[in-house]
Amino acid sequence: MSKQTFVIVGASLTGAKAAEELRTQGFDGRIVLIGDEPELPYERPPLTKDYLRGESPREKSRVHEPGFYEGHDIELLTGVKVTAIEPAERLVRVDGNAGPVYDRLLIATGAQPRQLEIPGASLDGIHYLRTLADCDALRERLAAGGKGAVVGAGWIGAEFAASARQGGLEVTVIEPAAVPLERVLGTELGAFYGDVHRAHGVELRTESGVEAFEGQGSVTSVRTTDGQSIACDFVLVGVGVIPRTGLAEAAGAAIENGILVNEKLATSVPDVFAAGDVANAWHPFFGQRIRVEHWSNALNQGPAAARSMLGQDVSYERLPYFFSDQYDVGMEYSGYASDSDEVVYRGALADGAFVAFWLKDRRVIAGMNVNVWDVNEDVQKLIRSRRQIDIAALRDEDTPLGELVDQPSGGDDE
Ligand SMILES: Cc1cc2nc3c(=O)[nH]c(=O)nc-3n(C[C@H](O)[C@H](O)[C@H](O)COP(=O)(O)OP(=O)(O)OC[C@H]3O[C@@H](n4cnc5c(N)ncnc54)[C@H](O)[C@@H]3O)c2cc1C
Repeated sequence: MSKQTFVIVGASLTGAKAAEELRTQGFDGRIVLIGDEPELPYERPPLTKDYLRGESPREKSRVHEPGFYEGHDIELLTGVKVTAIEPAERLVRVDGNAGPVYDRLLIATGAQPRQLEIPGASLDGIHYLRTLADCDALRERLAAGGKGAVVGAGWIGAEFAASARQGGLEVTVIEPAAVPLERVLGTELGAFYGDVHRAHGVELRTESGVEAFEGQGSVTSVRTTDGQSIACDFVLVGVGVIPRTGLAEAAGAAIENGILVNEKLATSVPDVFAAGDVANAWHPFFGQRIRVEHWSNALNQGPAAARSMLGQDVSYERLPYFFSDQYDVGMEYSGYASDSDEVVYRGALADGAFVAFWLKDRRVIAGMNVNVWDVNEDVQKLIRSRRQIDIAALRDEDTPLGELVDQPSGGDDE
């Protein structure tokens, strides 16, 4: 019997870790890993942090050492675009031509920045940040100094602003919400991050949209919806990402805010799987579909998809987890706080070191530790326990978090 061929579309963290896992699990068939960037698979977090600031070498962001793919008999095709998937023939088209025929296929095409379509959008000096190439262009901007305007105070905008300030640039951040990061963190914690940025010299313009980019050839100012004109040498737009679902959709896969997959990470098309930023996956713990746009999900969901492709009994139910570093403020967030009814703090925001918990019916559904370390595991245990928590003990810094998981809940536990 001829050996099977497994094809992976998208050679970033999800795809590269899936390929590795196939070999770890003993798969001895053909593995083809195809990516359209002219790079070895790399991780993106350094692109708003140390690599952007010129503090770490390019190679440090790689998922594997260069010899890894050859050494594991993984056919890595870089700078090659998959242009179609034809499930009837199990054919993958690359750059328009017939490519490999698959027994199983993983789509790990990730996400791309949402574009701002406003007057002046095509002027020089307007940047987005997703790839190493994007980051290299921005490194040149930071090296040139001057004044940067950041549109959007989400994670990318906030981390970029921090790095640009650390590089000595003047930075104005323009954000339609009342505080940075409001959608994920809410008003109080968003205000905490707003204060952090202001304390580091960022000019933060909230409750203000962007109407146009102005300039002759290159952008020289940003016009806001409240009629201001903000002078700048360049702009970084960070207004969210869109999952890259085009290939999957054309192949007939069910799509809704990403490629719909079950807990086994299988799409609606036979033998086609999806994972990472592009996948909107059924999460058994939360009982709903979740599309996670974070590093840890790519790191773990890719391998889980690989095991599923091998026919193992997979149910992907890791809690969403992410981290962010801005100036000297580091944080980790676990869980999914879509419908919390209360936020409780352990420690004071004013001290800059605390843990925030999002609760629903007195059960912890998400937690974020800011400049407090080695608690993330306990936060996850609290979430998984689904226990109704004694709020006073949750606030009390002298009660170890680990103890709360086993403590009597203070009544009306169901
Ligand atoms: C600047 C930046 C900083 C970040 N920082 C953090 C952080 O601090 N913490 C955190 O938790 N997360 C962070 N993230 C998010 C994290 O990097 C993503 O969740 C992760 O990259 C998702 O990996 P992925 O492999 O699923 O998708 P992607 O990384 O998007 O990779 C998909 C790959 O598929 C390729 N591709 C798409 N279509 C095709 C095609 N048709 N043919 C061939 N190749 C194709 C793409 O070019 C890309 O290389 C950051 C992201 C960015 C952009």
